[in-house]
Amino acid sequence: MMQNSPVNQQEGARRVVVLSGPSGSGKTTLVRRLLQEAPVRLVKAVSATTRQPRPTEKPGDDYYFLTDAEFRRRLRDGEFVEHAEVFGSGFLYGTLRSELERAWKDAGWAFLEIDVQGALKVMQQYPEAVTIFLRASSPQEFERRLRKRGTEAEGLLQKRLAAAAEELKLADRYQHVVVNDELEQAVREICAILKAEEYRRNAG
Ligand code: ADP
Ligand code: 5GP
Repeated sequence: MMQNSPVNQQEGARRVVVLSGPSGSGKTTLVRRLLQEAPVRLVKAVSATTRQPRPTEKPGDDYYFLTDAEFRRRLRDGEFVEHAEVFGSGFLYGTLRSELERAWKDAGWAFLEIDVQGALKVMQQYPEAVTIFLRASSPQEFERRLRKRGTEAEGLLQKRLAAAAEELKLADRYQHVVVNDELEQAVREICAILKAEEYRRNAG
């Protein structure tokens, strides 16, 4: 099995971890915790997007907020590892190759928090990537959390819920599925996965 065999040096040096999960599964919350507490060096790959920043978000920290024209120019110039139009909202999201390189230069894991369409593309390009799908235990729980967060208008919220149902169907394409009902438990589980993968790569 690929999961148990040693990895070669080149692959070991290009460490990638992909975290996906429907809107409301708790990705943002978890990423914040993992960046502080993970037992390995995680470097968040800051995505580019054409959506507007939320009041709490900082450009260059949470996302690179680009105009549609700028995003498409960079796409044409081959700067993205993957990109997707998420939730049929008309907004583009993508991972810049330079973000992965930044992480590797820093001897870290490039940590990608991206949707399932993007994750499938990354899996093809980086078969050694560690892939984690995050979910809540029920659709009702996704909805409750999104309403509590209160960052989307009703129309967009409904789109996100519909997309969540689609994304859940692809959970079995990931190496690990983590249920985020109890935040501390989910943080511990992901930390254990990362520690084991780091050990395996160092041994390889
Ligand atoms: P995502 O980034 O996946 O859309 P967020 O991290 O924004 O999700 O979480 C959505 C909402 O759910 C936030 O209000 C967050 O505080 C809350 N939340 C996250 N994890 C949990 C959990 N384990 N239990 C209850 N609420 C949670
Ligand atoms: P949000 O708008 O809530 O920040 O993110 C919406 C969705 O976009 C989430 O599912 C998130 O994982 C996804 N996303 C964020 N950045 C990227 C990216 O670079 N590529 C892809 N494919 N999806 C992304």
